[in-house]
Amino acid sequence: MISAAADSRQQLRAEEILRQRERQIYRRIDRMFAVLMMVQWLGAVATALCVSPRTWSGATSEVHPHVWYAFWAGGALASLPVWLAWRRPGDTITRYTIAVAQMLFSSLLVQVSGGRLETHFHVFGSLAFLAAYRDWGVLMVATALVSADQLIRGIFWPLSMFGVATADHWRWIEHTGWVLFEDLFLLITMRKSTEEMRNNALQTALFESHHADLHRYSEQLHRSFEKERSIIEGSLDAVVELDARGKVLNWNGPAERLFGWTVAEAIGSQLEELVIPEHDQQRYLAGLRQLTESPAGSQVHQRFEMECVARGGRQFAVELAIVSIQGSEETTFCAFVRDITDRKSHELDMRRAMEESEAANRTKSEFLANMSHEIRTPLNSILGFAELLVRNADEGDERTRRDYADTIRTSARHLMELINNVLDLSKIEAGKMQVERARFSPHQVIAEVVSLLRVRAIEKGIVLNYRWDGPIPETVTTDPHRVRQLLINLVGNAIKFTEQGSVMIVAGVAREGDRGLLTLEVRDTGIGIEPSKLSDIFHPFVQADSSMTRRYGGTGLGLAICKNIAAALGGDLSVDSQLGRGTTFTAKLEIGDLRHVRMFEAPPDAATGDYVDRPISANLQGVRVLLADDGETNRKLIQVFLSRHGAEVQTVENGEMACRIALAEQFDVVLMDMQMPQMDGYAATRKLRSLGFLKPIIALTAHAMKGDREKCTFAGCSGYLSKPVNVDELIRAVEVAAGLELRHDELVKQEKEKKIKRALAGPIRSSLPTEDEMLREIVAEFVESIPARLDAMERALADEDYEELQRHVHGLKGSGGTAGFTCLSEVSAELESYAAARKGDQAAALLGELREMEPLIVV
Ligand code: ADP
Repeated sequence: MISAAADSRQQLRAEEILRQRERQIYRRIDRMFAVLMMVQWLGAVATALCVSPRTWSGATSEVHPHVWYAFWAGGALASLPVWLAWRRPGDTITRYTIAVAQMLFSSLLVQVSGGRLETHFHVFGSLAFLAAYRDWGVLMVATALVSADQLIRGIFWPLSMFGVATADHWRWIEHTGWVLFEDLFLLITMRKSTEEMRNNALQTALFESHHADLHRYSEQLHRSFEKERSIIEGSLDAVVELDARGKVLNWNGPAERLFGWTVAEAIGSQLEELVIPEHDQQRYLAGLRQLTESPAGSQVHQRFEMECVARGGRQFAVELAIVSIQGSEETTFCAFVRDITDRKSHELDMRRAMEESEAANRTKSEFLANMSHEIRTPLNSILGFAELLVRNADEGDERTRRDYADTIRTSARHLMELINNVLDLSKIEAGKMQVERARFSPHQVIAEVVSLLRVRAIEKGIVLNYRWDGPIPETVTTDPHRVRQLLINLVGNAIKFTEQGSVMIVAGVAREGDRGLLTLEVRDTGIGIEPSKLSDIFHPFVQADSSMTRRYGGTGLGLAICKNIAAALGGDLSVDSQLGRGTTFTAKLEIGDLRHVRMFEAPPDAATGDYVDRPISANLQGVRVLLADDGETNRKLIQVFLSRHGAEVQTVENGEMACRIALAEQFDVVLMDMQMPQMDGYAATRKLRSLGFLKPIIALTAHAMKGDREKCTFAGCSGYLSKPVNVDELIRAVEVAAGLELRHDELVKQEKEKKIKRALAGPIRSSLPTEDEMLREIVAEFVESIPARLDAMERALADEDYEELQRHVHGLKGSGGTAGFTCLSEVSAELESYAAARKGDQAAALLGELREMEPLIVV
């Protein structure tokens, strides 16, 4: 049964164990027999001494030969087995020698006892002892020996065997029979014992094998336990093991750090009491129930997110994955928990950034659509009217042609303004917006803006006006151009978004210590702005309502630029609006120290300061200009402008020719287009400079973006003009480059004279679109009022009533500008200053000029 359960390896091992045990038994019994041999030897001698100690021959006696026989034979019999048992215990030879010697001892004892019956029992005892070897061979050898002894001595020496001189011949058979009878028993016992030993060995082998297996399993278990422990401890995630009731069974180091509870505190506690926020406990317990009911359900191995709370109350988002561990008695759950606060905040940032970029994209697309519309509208009229001019070159009267040209100019200016706005924004975004500081009259700038935009207001039928709130400073110190730009934008918007009512500019100054602040409020009664859009409208490309803007036009750049201008001028721009009722934009600007500035109660008549618009006149007589441009129209245009101012202009089409001619001839200035075929302006300039050309080279480029100026300077240009070229700037640049800049006053004077002369050369018409009936009426009314106004002035001058004269002139100046007669308002402005200075002669001369102009002024 047992052997059937064992495999061949275990059978082999059992055999081995059996052999070892047998050998151990052999050795033990060998030693036992060694002792027995010695005892038997002494016993034989003692027996001989007891039975027949002496032999008598008469009165003399001597030691019986049996005694000597027992001594010598016993010693001889015992010595070899004792030696073998000592030297070679367990060997077959030792065992068999012992068996032979033992049986011979029986024979010896029988002999020395004179065949006494008791000594025959020694034979049986010896056989029983030898059976202890469990070696039937040994028993057989002993049996054979004893049988042979009994046969031989029973027949030939019965006395020594049976203690009688004559013994029955068959007596040895009886003896042998008893021996064999004992053998039978002994053999059966030996067989049983051997079988038991075999079974025992097999069981030991099986036990050993199971023990080895067990050892291996426990080793594996230990290793996997250690592995699991180090994985859990080394894990970056918090690992929490729970039983089905939510009690914490395991809690690793990262869990300690994440939740703030130590292992000792956590183990045995309910997880929901440690880390689940109160508002989430019901959900957690429901989830746990679901898990327990179906441990292999959908929640297992899924990743999900939830909120946890750490010791101290900090709440944070975690991501966790749950695995179920199916035990034989109970299922437990292991949760791997990871803090995802950072990831969540990155996700949030990313989402926000994406939304912002999508919004920016949307806004830019809308901007592009608007921009395209804004560009196409003036372009359409430029192309359309230019086409009309080209086709009807010889038809139509002078006035119509002039109208067309005016429309073209206005549209082109509008385009230019648009592009300037974009460029301004690009400069602002590159942090390159430059502001200057100059002393100027704020009243003058505001008045100019009002006069510039009044026409638009009149066109829409709304009132545009301005007033000062409090004293008016004679001058302020800030950037007049930027203030003007800001006001034009704000007032332009106000007019644009107002259908009826008025636009009012309210200006005022306040002192903050030494510092003065100029407040400019632009109030309108227009459509207003939704409160939610109020903060966005200052961002570039943003319009409060795109549908509205399509109706009104625009690009969404103006307010962004204004906001930046206000900031650059040390102030701010804010807005207050009520939908449907109107809007007020308030610009606050730093205007320097006001302590030494004169303050007026009413607007000063003649504004003073450093700021004067530059004149559009120059004398370029004798200046030789080389113009390199691949565009024929450009070449023509620039050549015409420069030649009109007296310059001698030579034109070439590319950089290569420019280099050749510039080096061969004498020029004062080179105007170099930077984008040309064959050799561009950059290469040509570099080449000229490398060949020692020292004259000024002014770059002309259409890429008026940031970095362009630097690029041109780097190539060797001494000046820079952006295309389309502004004629004033062009002339001034050439003038400066040629070292011919004339004095300002001189230029102003020349310009004015020219204007008057030009005005006197033909009818003077209003620059307003007088096709519009309403405007026509306003202009006609003004024209009709001129003679009366001049009469009143002459009377006042004759009476030397300069105040009166000043009042009339001031009226003519303002109305003349509004009605579109700039030449009138310019002469009036000068006349006004003479009146203020009480210079009668100069005033009379100018009044004469006005009289000369009067009949030429028509609607
Ligand atoms: P644009 O006028 O070219 O569209 P702006 O930056 O000047 O660009 O103005 C941005 C937006 O602010 C306008 O499109 C308009 O919706 C709103 N806005 C500006 N000024 C006014 C105003 N006075 N009244 C109502 N809405 C205004």
